[in-house]
Amino acid sequence: MSKLLEVKDLSIAFDTYGGEVQAVRGVTFDLDEKETLAIVGESGSGKSVTAQSLMRLVPMPPGKFAGGSIVFNEEDLVEKSDKQMEGIRGKDISMIFQDPMTSLNPTMPIGKQISEGLIKHQNMSKKAAHNRGIELLKLVGIPNPERRIDQYPHEYSGGMRQRAMIAIALACNPKILIADEPTTALDVTIQAQILDLMRDVQEETGTAIILITHDLGVVANAANRVAVMYGGKIVETGNVNEIFYNPKHPYTWGLLSSMPKIDGDDEELLAIPGSPPDLADPPKGCPFAARCPYAMKVCENHMPEYTHLSETQQTACWLLDERAPDVEAPESAMV
Ligand code: SF4
Ligand code: MG
Repeated sequence: MSKLLEVKDLSIAFDTYGGEVQAVRGVTFDLDEKETLAIVGESGSGKSVTAQSLMRLVPMPPGKFAGGSIVFNEEDLVEKSDKQMEGIRGKDISMIFQDPMTSLNPTMPIGKQISEGLIKHQNMSKKAAHNRGIELLKLVGIPNPERRIDQYPHEYSGGMRQRAMIAIALACNPKILIADEPTTALDVTIQAQILDLMRDVQEETGTAIILITHDLGVVANAANRVAVMYGGKIVETGNVNEIFYNPKHPYTWGLLSSMPKIDGDDEELLAIPGSPPDLADPPKGCPFAARCPYAMKVCENHMPEYTHLSETQQTACWLLDERAPDVEAPESAMV
């Protein structure tokens, strides 16, 4: 079966006063129909930039594609003009953000914001779009949708605004829904409700989801597969069981041990000491080397290749590569 989306060797850089920042450094992943892929990492890992680039929302300049491809529907989105992207954004690929207030228009009733896409992409009449809007608000669990549809964002609670944003994003039945920290701004109960909602909606509509989060706890119930990003690279990919029960990358171990336990015992949370690498001057070798308790000489100078541990799990770490002790000097020839 061909993939819905194939991202290959994607690199994105930003020109800044301090020099070029290599935010995304050769990222490869794919997405199947109807699945949820979580991209997990700390802030600055490149996960949001990766997500935004799929919708071509990275401001260019100062951003630029520094290599790679994003193949959707057999076409490379990197090559598309802005005009062509307008036909894809909101129709085939939609996005929801952490803070609905920044992406909802405060001066426009919710219903009108849902209708816009339907009228633009699906040539619906105003009346039909209004009716579809009511259905969508019902789908995302807004009570009294017939009345609520004419209200403004400020008349909704935080959780309801997030639901409304999901309704807008789903209006045109997108193939892919990208959710960037969709629950980070919400309290825990509402968080759980929104994640449930996304799962229900996926069952109903079949949309594939890319979930961007810094929080592995969010991932456990929501995702099928996980890509762990660090320092602009994907350091480990696996299905949810592999990542939670058989992780092989020290950074994934660190993320897992800093996760609150559900059973609530008062074990101390181990945050990973140190800070992420400076991507204006990215490390030559493993991006995690400066913080990794297992770092060896080779790690500093050579980026580990992916070791394929199963059909779904691959990990870039020298601990899994038997050549590690023999690769010492930076100049040594690596094949
Ligand atoms: Fe640690 Fe080396 Fe593995 Fe990087 S490659 S995670 S530094 S052991
Ligand atoms: Mg972010």
